[in-house]
Amino acid sequence: MGDKHEPSGDSNGEVTAKADRSSSLQPKAYSLKPKAFSLSRWEIVVLLGVAFVMAIAVYQALSRPGELAEGASQPTVLPAETPLRPFKVVNAHEHLFSRKFLDKYLDAAEKTGVVRTVFVASSDYTLMGSGKPQDKGNDENTEEILAAAREHPGQIVPFCTIYPGDPQKLEKIKRFRKEGVMGLKLYTGHGNFYDKPLDDPAMMPVYQYCAETKFPICWHVNIVKYAVEFERVMKQFPDLIVIVPHFGVTFFRPQEEPFRIFQRLMDAYPNMYTDTSFGTRAILVEGLEAVSRDPEPFREFLKKYADRTLFGTDMVVTGNKEKTAPWIADVIRACRELLEKDAYRYALGAKGAAYATKNSRNEAGVFRGLALDDATLRKIYETNFERLFPPK
Ligand SMILES: [Zn+2]
Repeated sequence: MGDKHEPSGDSNGEVTAKADRSSSLQPKAYSLKPKAFSLSRWEIVVLLGVAFVMAIAVYQALSRPGELAEGASQPTVLPAETPLRPFKVVNAHEHLFSRKFLDKYLDAAEKTGVVRTVFVASSDYTLMGSGKPQDKGNDENTEEILAAAREHPGQIVPFCTIYPGDPQKLEKIKRFRKEGVMGLKLYTGHGNFYDKPLDDPAMMPVYQYCAETKFPICWHVNIVKYAVEFERVMKQFPDLIVIVPHFGVTFFRPQEEPFRIFQRLMDAYPNMYTDTSFGTRAILVEGLEAVSRDPEPFREFLKKYADRTLFGTDMVVTGNKEKTAPWIADVIRACRELLEKDAYRYALGAKGAAYATKNSRNEAGVFRGLALDDATLRKIYETNFERLFPPK
């Protein structure tokens, strides 16, 4: 994970410059003035009428913020900054490299209404970059997160992880559970981690134990690639409580078949959950753009599966120097505003900014959100988690 991303200060300058350019309507209006002296009263009335109609058109374009994310020549006006709604939010999906970086996360969490966070343990691969091994660091990071949870009881919910090739994996899960972990994180359905089918015999004892003892698994499964294998596991262990994050990685194209397959699986397996996280940096922005382009499938999904969706951020909290407390707060805020607002701004997702998507035309980093009602949000932020993990 290199540090090639520009600091956010640069991107802000960029946005301002572009926003200024779009006010080029104004000089035109002035140039009408000298001419208007020679116009008849009727001509002035007609001109005023035309100006009025144009003003209405501009106003309507601005009140459809989704157009801002897509349109190239739209004037850019930032949505008014309104406070986040007063929920006690549980963040059900985050990673923590070391307790050294916990303070900046907790500081940002407090500022953005997050009262409790699930830290899922990870290997060196996730925490230190894709050059690092996937079979290293799993136990160590689990112990680190357990220690963080002991230092911040009630604020941190620890999930362990295991390396699937570890012959001791089931014993380790049981031991970690005695030490206080509340769930298991699996990465096996991630393209970069996948090396055996998800229903590999070596994993069956793990699924069986988790199903029998109602031990939840946060399981990254790319439904685009592995739906069939995943369903074979679920058919065999329908009691398995699984949280498949990121809408099963189908969020990039909600109009396509995998998004419908994911919903069919949600329908077939009532112990299956999902979370609203997308991923870190550019993947987050891809998710924000997917929703902004076409909010309706997401709104329908979250209404239909409001009882089985959790809130998550998945930004991966490390010592990377761009990941400051304000950076973390901006990510949490964007992930919340996506659900709460009609429109919101995430500056690092603007065209030319650090995480802009390819061919982005989103000059101001303004995205269209879902503006979910309070009852739906309460389930996603608070009550679903309480039901899955009742306080002891
Ligand atoms: Zn994650």
